Amino acid sequence: MNAEEIVQRARDAGVRLVTFAYCDNSGIIRGKATHISGLERRLNSGIGVTTAMQAMGDMDRLQVVDGMGPVGEFRMVPDLDTFTMLPYAPTRAFVIADMMTMDRKPWPACPRDFLKRMLAQGEGMGLTFQAAMEPEWYLARRDGDVFVPMDESLDNSTLGATYSQEVIDAMVQALEAQGLQIEQYHTEVGHGQQELSITHAGALRAADNHLIYRETVRNVAWQHGWLASFAPKPFPDQAGNGCHIHLSAWDANGERNLFYDANNDLELSGLAYHFIGGIMEHLPGLTLLTSPSMNSYRRISPGSWSTAYICYGPDNREAAVRIPSRFWGSEMASTNLEFRPADSSSNPYIALGGIIAAGLDGVRRQLAPPEGLLIDTDPARLNVDDLAARGIKRLPATLLEAIQELEADRTLTDAMGPLLANSYLTVRRSDWELFSQHDADFEIRHHFYKY
Ligand code: GLU
Ligand code: MG
Repeated sequence: MNAEEIVQRARDAGVRLVTFAYCDNSGIIRGKATHISGLERRLNSGIGVTTAMQAMGDMDRLQVVDGMGPVGEFRMVPDLDTFTMLPYAPTRAFVIADMMTMDRKPWPACPRDFLKRMLAQGEGMGLTFQAAMEPEWYLARRDGDVFVPMDESLDNSTLGATYSQEVIDAMVQALEAQGLQIEQYHTEVGHGQQELSITHAGALRAADNHLIYRETVRNVAWQHGWLASFAPKPFPDQAGNGCHIHLSAWDANGERNLFYDANNDLELSGLAYHFIGGIMEHLPGLTLLTSPSMNSYRRISPGSWSTAYICYGPDNREAAVRIPSRFWGSEMASTNLEFRPADSSSNPYIALGGIIAAGLDGVRRQLAPPEGLLIDTDPARLNVDDLAARGIKRLPATLLEAIQELEADRTLTDAMGPLLANSYLTVRRSDWELFSQHDADFEIRHHFYKY
């Protein structure tokens, strides 16, 4: 749809407010809405936002970052392909924006542009990427100072699906109405925990879909009297909320899955091994891009399927990269890598861009993952000597460790570019400084609400 058609469609549908949105360096979705009367003009010239917004931590505490002070603006310029009417709010619409400079160039701190740059590098190497996010989240109610889960149901329990049926069905309808295709639904291990997954798409679209998804789930839950929380660990004694990221590399026409090779033991191509090799090498710093919040490190721990070790393996849910078993009859098409130390406090553009940057580095350098990292058991069951013999190391155990690892990873920070990397690291560090001075209740309360 072009701008004129969008305006017409919005007018015909009675839309009054159209939100231009982006996802920031803290994984928070932010935006401003234009009234329908100014839509046509703003679809062209965007909406101005102070550059300081990319220096804002997830508690809205402004950090000092060169180029992000009180002077200067970026423009949120909408990508018209992402325009969607909101089925749960009939007089509103939503569109995802790129951050542009005043001379109409991508602003170097724009996360969506980072992903586009990584995809362009992939295209230069003959690769196009398909991705899918697999988000988990809780339904809960606020009771005074605490949050109480919707139910006490069990993993995959049909009883849990009974309690949540009304609100989940409303979400399914709202997601479908916005063009998202549903893959599966089930209740997860945690009390009140849900998993409703979306079919894969081109990597940029998959990241856009995740924003639309988070918005839809939060809004529909709210309308049904529930809070949906995507926080990585909303309840310390319950399972964490992962957002595992599935990725596959295809040829330029999108016809052949280049990660697939029927003749290999794991049915993976040489390209897939190089890609895994890059991920394994960069995982320490990459973790900050996929698990960026203080609360992320309460989730990442052995024995909780969130993964805690740098290793990979077929259908291994305790490995950082799982090679999922294939669908019978569509082995080539269903081959993908599942990156597990990721959660929805991450910015999906930065998370996906980071994984692709790491993987492409492995492809360029023809890296092979060290032999010992391929594992068909739970790494937590190996003793220290066995882990050392295999070369299996822990993922960063704290936000601070992850920050230090990213600071030391020039491949990833160079891929992000100085403005995005500096601002990202600065806001992550400010969160560490704040939350490390407070207790778990404080951390959980604030993350519960914001994600
Ligand atoms: N909840 C787990 C996590 O934190 C994942 C459980 C699963 O494998 O679906 O990643
Ligand atoms: Mg799950």
